[in-house]
Amino acid sequence: MSFKSLGLSEPLLKAISKKGYETPSPIQAKAIPPVLEGKDVLASAQTGTGKTAGFTLPMLHLLSKGPEQRHRPIRALILTPTRELAAQVHANVKEYSEFLNIRSAVIFGGVNQNPQVNKLNQGVDVLVATPGRLIDLENQGLLSLKKVEIFVLDEADRMLDMGFLRDIERIMKLIPNKRQNLMFSATFSKDIKKLAYSILNHPVQVEATPENTAVEVIEQKVYRVAKGKKTNLIIKLISEGNWKQVLVFTRTKHGANKLCKKMISAGITAAAIHGNKSQGARTKALAGFKNGSVRVLVATDIAARGLDIPLLPHVINFELPNISEDYVHRIGRTGRAGAEGQAISLVSADETTYLKGIEKLIGESIEVEIVEGFEPDPNASTEPIKPGQNRNQGRGRNSNSRNSSRNSSKNSKNSNRSRSRNRNTNSR
Ligand code: AMP
Repeated sequence: MSFKSLGLSEPLLKAISKKGYETPSPIQAKAIPPVLEGKDVLASAQTGTGKTAGFTLPMLHLLSKGPEQRHRPIRALILTPTRELAAQVHANVKEYSEFLNIRSAVIFGGVNQNPQVNKLNQGVDVLVATPGRLIDLENQGLLSLKKVEIFVLDEADRMLDMGFLRDIERIMKLIPNKRQNLMFSATFSKDIKKLAYSILNHPVQVEATPENTAVEVIEQKVYRVAKGKKTNLIIKLISEGNWKQVLVFTRTKHGANKLCKKMISAGITAAAIHGNKSQGARTKALAGFKNGSVRVLVATDIAARGLDIPLLPHVINFELPNISEDYVHRIGRTGRAGAEGQAISLVSADETTYLKGIEKLIGESIEVEIVEGFEPDPNASTEPIKPGQNRNQGRGRNSNSRNSSRNSSKNSKNSNRSRSRNRNTNSR
């Protein structure tokens, strides 16, 4: 299977080969043909499967075949849940449209709107947006969605997780009824199906490789360790392993900052990425991590969502998440595009229950190692840290809003990763 045989135009094939892609990924092979035929598509795919090119390439093909538009109204709208994802998708749109006469822009909140408005005023064919800023600018009369022909809802499950349902419904009222819709989601809960039903018109359903494949190619290991020795252990592992690109997860923003400072003091370049960081700081941290000037990126779960970091060799859970599904999301960042990865978890006595929950979810026990000098504390309590009264930070997550029955659904692909929509993201 080649990109050419999928029927994509020459300028797109040129951009694809410039990116170095040789063959379409499974989701691309399945999604591109129906999109080119003008059909609605409902795709089950997560970040790392090549889904962005899966919708962007055929979308650009269709737009470039359409009649020349003098005033360049917005003809394609791509909605994403996070600013980072919006920026990444837009970067892809720009790369793939390099040899086409297509203009694109990205808008998201947290930054001054004026440069975004200036860009819109110059005429834009493809707009990538997060819901809040999109509605805001539309309310101000600074953009119109009346000419949208193609609507893409990316990471629909995360949209719902983050409470964007009302915004999506509002946006649907701003775009024409007659349009092509593409919806991507990693999971298919009842709410997602309901949303799909309300947006899509006789969609073709496509699925990427099963979710669990990623987990199978990842080498997982647990280090049992005393809580107070975690920082020194992680520094030892990274330094002695000479690991160059490590994504570390902490449970709280405060924990991320603290660990980041310790790493820097130990001579390891590190940056933290979480909700309290400005957009500029987050973008800079991510860019540094990608170009190799930052060795360790310390992130909270929410901040790490949708980050496009290809072929990540090491993920470390400095603390285990108290939601087992978050573990699968975290370690899914290694072993992407078929490459092998290593996922390490530092587990103290009070995380024993979380570890059991994770092992139950993934259906296997994870290999345990103890490093001399970093042994677990035999007297430490195995009582789990109560969400909401985190011992270290004083600010925790409200677990009451979560569906505690989720952990028991080992084999249910859809329910495994479905989340409560009321999650308290304050501490993350
Ligand atoms: P995505 O799932 O869209 O976030 O893409 C994940 C990563 O795979 C990105 O870094 C893409 O540049 C890369 N990618 C997408 N399609 C292909 C392909 N056909 N061959 C190789 N890499 C790809």
